[in-house]
Parts: sequence; C-alpha cells; structure tokens
Amino acid sequence: MYAGHQFGNYSPRLGDGRALLLGEFVDDDGSRRDLHLKGSGRTPFARGGDGNAAVGPMLREYVIGEAMHALGIPTTRALAVVATGQQIEREVPLVGEVPLPGAVLARVAASHLRVGTFQYAAATGDTDLLARLAAYAIDRHHPDSATAERPYLALYTAVVEAQASLIARWMAVGFVHGVMNTDNMTISGETIDYGPCAFMDRHHPRTVFSSIDHGGRYAYGNQPGIAQWNLARLAEAMLPLFADTPDEAVAAATDVLRSFKERYERHCTAVMQTKLGLTHAGPAGLVDDLLALMAAQGVDHTQLFRSLSDVVRGDVDGTHELFTDPAAFDTWAARWTAARADDPRPVAEVADAMDRVNPVYIPRNHLVEAALTAATDGDLAPFDRLVQVVTNPFEERLGLGEYAKPASVDELPYRTFCGT
Ligand code: AMP
Ligand code: MG
Repeated sequence: MYAGHQFGNYSPRLGDGRALLLGEFVDDDGSRRDLHLKGSGRTPFARGGDGNAAVGPMLREYVIGEAMHALGIPTTRALAVVATGQQIEREVPLVGEVPLPGAVLARVAASHLRVGTFQYAAATGDTDLLARLAAYAIDRHHPDSATAERPYLALYTAVVEAQASLIARWMAVGFVHGVMNTDNMTISGETIDYGPCAFMDRHHPRTVFSSIDHGGRYAYGNQPGIAQWNLARLAEAMLPLFADTPDEAVAAATDVLRSFKERYERHCTAVMQTKLGLTHAGPAGLVDDLLALMAAQGVDHTQLFRSLSDVVRGDVDGTHELFTDPAAFDTWAARWTAARADDPRPVAEVADAMDRVNPVYIPRNHLVEAALTAATDGDLAPFDRLVQVVTNPFEERLGLGEYAKPASVDELPYRTFCGT
C-alpha cells in the first residue's frame, strides 16, 4: 500500500491496483529481492481498473528495463512476461476499445519501497510505524545509515544521493521516465514503473512523450527538478523522525534537500567527463554548450555522443553529418580538444573508453513500437531481436545499422500512451 503525488496532486490511498508481491528471495550475491507480478488481476486498490495488463506494455517494461540495466543504470528487472491467453479490453487512441492479448510481468526489484510508501505511513499519524518503516529501509537499502549520529536523517541523505546519481544517469542517455510521481520513485534508487517512458532521439530539454503530460511536467529537462520536488515530499513525510522539535527537523531536512543540486551536478560532471573522454571536468560550460548546440540543431543524442570517439580517432565526418551547421560544432570541439591536450593516454585508448560509456544501441521508439505491434499480433521475432541488440549496447555489430538510427522525420512526433 502507498500514497503519492500524481502530477502534483496528492492521493492518500493508491496502493498497487494490479501488482502482487509474491515474496522475497536472496540472490547469488546475497542481495534480498522482491518478486512481484504485474497484471495478475484486481487488488483491493484496483479502483475502477481491471488489474490486468496487455502484452505490449509489459514487453515495453521488459525491453526498456533490460536496456537500462545493460547501460549500467539501476533498475528493477524483468524476469519474464507470460501471456495469460485472455483478451482484455483497452482504449486505443483514435481507435476506441479493442481486445488485446493479456500478459503478466514477473518483476524483480531491490524492494518496492517508494516515496509514496513513506507518505502513506506518515499520513497514519503513527510515528512509531513511520520509524519502523525507516528502520526497515535502512536495513534493506542503506545499512551505513544505521551507525550515523542521526540514522533517519542519514537514510534521507542516502536516498537524496541515490536519486541524484540515478537522475544523472538517466540524463546522460536521454531517458525520459514520463511519470515521475512520488509513488514511482524508489527508496533504493532503482528506476521503477516503465509506463510512458522513452529515450529521446533529437536532444531537447522540453522533450515529452507521454500523451497525458500536457504541461510537460515530466519533460526530459525537468527531471532533476522533479526529483528534488519528490524528495521534498519525502522529507515532509519523514519530518517527525529527524529531530525533537519541528524547527530543528525542518532545518536539518532543508540542508539535505538543498544538497540535491550539488550532488546531482557532481554526478553529471563525472558521467559527462567519461562520455567526453576527459580526465577532468573541463572548462566551465563545456558540457552545457554542447547540449545547447545539440538542442538548437536537433541533433540525435545517442548518435552524437557515440560519434565523438571517431573525432578523437581523427575522423570528424560522421559527427559533422549530424549538424546542419557543423562549423558551430568545430568551434565547440576546439575547446574540447584543448581540454584533452594534457591527457597522457594513447588516442585509441581514450576512444575505446568512450565507446564503453556511449551506447550505439538504445531502444529506439519506432523499433520498440514495431516490435510491440508484431508481438501483439503473435510474432515475437522482432522483439527478441530488439532485446538482443539493446542488451549489448556498447559493442557495434555488423548488420545492425538500422538499430543505431533515429526514426525518419515523418514518423515524428512519437507519443506514448498510459493506457497500460
Ligand atoms: P503507474 O502509472 O504504473 O505507476 O500506475 C499508477 C497506479 O494505477 C498504480 O496503483 C497501478 O497499479 C494502477 N493501475 C494501472 N493500471 C491498472 C489496471 N489495469 N488495473 C488496476 N490498477 C491499475
Ligand atoms: Mg506506479
């Protein structure tokens, strides 16, 4: 059971409408994991919903989550998607109600504790319950907090840190979660609930895919700010645990919440440094100026970063092709090259290291859509192939050129639908 802010509006009793926690197990590494079914039928929190899931959205969670894992980004994992053999009714935009094949996803997660879980516990007014929840979260996810002077504040700090790191990793690969409600933000720092998410192709901070996100609340460029907003809600929920007096608690929480920006920027700097093959952060504005250039010229995020290793190897042609005005890139590249001048490593070594962090293959929206449509019609071959490609994202392979390119302009704009 959990509560949560959905698009900024608080719902006191959400719980999961179609997910069933089967139990926990300890994996080969000694980590405790939840095993969860999604789409297994109505629950006491299903409200008007049928508790079911269609095969398309469950396979979407499978392929995007597995791609995220292969990219080195903390995430819940898909163990399997199993067709139920039942047809379920779903509203398809522009078409109306259609029967779709039903499916159940088996999901593995470090846990299903969410910001919304703490909001729910806080709303009961039972501070002892809230403390037991926090102690459980410390034990399960952030054990170092147990020995801190103020363990609950240390837990909060650990969640702020884990989310700052996670969001920096999303931003680096152009991932747009699409529905960053407080009930979709974990305490563990894993990405959870792949609904209307998608990877951005042409870099732009205002990129939104979800058909219900009219205001662009969860746009690509808003994600760090929204994460901090959600963490403010977590602080509110945990407040009675932080200190003896409300004033002290607010002061302590505010300090930690404010540290999100600095933590996020530190993670961004570290991630972007490796993406650009630098041994240090580089001159002020180097990364921001590149991103602004990409946004101004509609450059594909994934292709651009991948192409930079070729520039290091001495071949700038492929990168130039991505820009309508390549001269602007050259001006930027002169600063970037200067920042690399003191790097003692051989050029090939730098370029290879960049290729290990800048993927060739991400789940391209048009390919995901085509694979899910085929799967819904009973042909799993395109889906299996897509999973194979995106779970080995850094190694360029022959014959996979189509997987490395964005959709043609007439296939845009891409929209994702929440009718899951
Ligand atoms: P999500 O956007 O996936 O985080 O879902 C938000 C809430 O809606 C969760 O409590 C889901 O379990 C619930 N939900 C989504 N689809 C259904 C459905 N078909 N039946 C019941 N509950 C659902
Ligand atoms: Mg959810």
